[in-house]
Amino acid sequence: MLTGKIAVVTGSTSGIGLGIAEALARTGANVALNSYTDKPEDHALAEKLAAGHGGKAVFISADMSTPADCIALVEQAADRLGPVQILVNNAGIQHVEAIETFPPEKWDAIMAINLSSSFHTIRTAVPGMKAAGWGRIVNIASAHGLTASPFKSAYVAAKHGMIGLTKTVALELAEFGTTCNAICPGYVMTPLVEGQIEDQMKAHGLDRERVIRDVMLERQPTKQFVAIEEMGATAVFLCSDQASQITGTAISVDGGWTAL
Ligand code: NAD
Repeated sequence: MLTGKIAVVTGSTSGIGLGIAEALARTGANVALNSYTDKPEDHALAEKLAAGHGGKAVFISADMSTPADCIALVEQAADRLGPVQILVNNAGIQHVEAIETFPPEKWDAIMAINLSSSFHTIRTAVPGMKAAGWGRIVNIASAHGLTASPFKSAYVAAKHGMIGLTKTVALELAEFGTTCNAICPGYVMTPLVEGQIEDQMKAHGLDRERVIRDVMLERQPTKQFVAIEEMGATAVFLCSDQASQITGTAISVDGGWTAL
């Protein structure tokens, strides 16, 4: 379906980003994986992706907290694979603390990685998409892009900002065959989340089922985590030609969280 398309997925050596990269590769896209690290395992991951799906895959180390690295990621992907046609802005970090003690350096890091990096990658990729008359930009926001929780000031602000950026870019690219959408997941079952279940069981003295239902998924009405595969499938759909008229949207994949 996306055979031969060139895709960049930021923050894609684990979790949702890796799931989306795998889903894109399965449909025939050539994919650039990214993280701020540069380990042999990172490159091995790209080799495994290419071997598994027959397309090309590369790993490009770039720190999404740095504008120059964001630009270099898109440029290097273009040099190694071809002009970027699909850009998935996924890299993200979190810090949870009350506003009055929230460390300013954490605020700056979350703004840089969760929001500004998308500005830099988008503005670098857009000229190629405009010239080709086809492009897909998918921004991984969050239910926290549409609603708030206490103690997550920077994350909530950055994710709300990402939705504003999504709408603006969509309008600017509307006549260039290029869409820009945000996906807003609720709690997704990533290795990171799985790892927190044991800790929460100990902290609350509850069994696994009660921790998932009453603590972690308290705000997710389905009481089920979103699967990484569901994120991959949503991203692939947004990249398909069938989604050419879907642009400027914030699509919730949140088990009903934002319906509350
Ligand atoms: P994760 O920690 O598994 O993945 C985050 C990725 O970002 C990692 O691959 C990490 O290497 C990368 N990253 C972090 N800092 C980076 C930097 N400076 N430069 C380059 N890469 C960097 O987490 P995840 O849960 O898969 O999250 C992915 C995205 O989904 C994030 O934007 C997150 O806010 C969003 N999200 C996650 C959930 C969830 O429940 N897991 C819910 C809503 C939104």
